[in-house]
Amino acid sequence: MTPEERFLKIDNNYSLYKSIQLNIDKNIYLGDKENKQCRFCKKQQPEVTFNTIAHAIPEFVNNHRLISYYECDSCNSKFARTIETHMGDYMNVYHTLSQVKGKRGVPSFSRGGEKSRVDHTSEGLKIDSFEGERENFVINEENNTVTFKAIRATYIPIAIYKCLTKMALSIMGDEELVNFENALKWINEEKHDESEFNIASLRCIFSITPGPLPHDFTTCMLFRRKDNNVDNVPYMQFLLAYGNYTFQIFLVMSNKDSNSGTSIMTPIPTPFDIENKYGKPDYKILDFYSKEKCKDDEVSLTMSYERMVKKDVDNEDE
Ligand SMILES: [Zn+2]
Repeated sequence: MTPEERFLKIDNNYSLYKSIQLNIDKNIYLGDKENKQCRFCKKQQPEVTFNTIAHAIPEFVNNHRLISYYECDSCNSKFARTIETHMGDYMNVYHTLSQVKGKRGVPSFSRGGEKSRVDHTSEGLKIDSFEGERENFVINEENNTVTFKAIRATYIPIAIYKCLTKMALSIMGDEELVNFENALKWINEEKHDESEFNIASLRCIFSITPGPLPHDFTTCMLFRRKDNNVDNVPYMQFLLAYGNYTFQIFLVMSNKDSNSGTSIMTPIPTPFDIENKYGKPDYKILDFYSKEKCKDDEVSLTMSYERMVKKDVDNEDE
């Protein structure tokens, strides 16, 4: 489908319900500062505290501005542990290569037990490669590209889908949140493999757009089904765009949806589908339904570079 056909397909069924663009230099606060109630556990002060700054979407997706008043400290630390760490680990290698800044700056990556590593420094991407270790990159000097290979830290796929769902539920208004009580219960579960919900498929459209930080600020959007929708589609979908990446999911378990039928996902077009001098976005459909730990997952990513400086190093600095 062309970007225009995709746009029409989306427009037949959905309208934009909420859009937040973080191209601003002051904070956006969600919720009521004076009457804080956690939307995830429904508790209020003094039963729970609200001392930690709660980012409505995680810092590792380049959010330093969107803050929520309706997430208590205990839910905040629980979500960090149960879901956000998995998505952070999944994206870590990509974030290094595309210079997406998280809480502690741009992450680095290395393979366990080996000295070879890739860091982002003020001079550019720094690759330390040691003989005798597995090559973690392949340089193609004809095309000026380098393909990085790395092993992801262990992660649980379903946690990534829950992490995206949690972002969607965080930016939603109260008037829509009432339609997602089961989704709230689902993301609140402490253990992914002891769930009262069973979902056969959790597909996500993931895209990588080439070039230096095409989505230089983070955007998140919710699309809501139109009353006169043409196709049988789920009630809401969520789109997150930041750095070189987009994630698009259907929100599951809305009481506005029946469980019948499968829906075709159409990638929501971005301006880079129409024009990008570094190349069009590459779309993939991923399925994050698994509750099992995913170990030794190899990831590769090809990037183009302008120039390369090779340095021979006899000893490590340390
Ligand atoms: Zn809470």
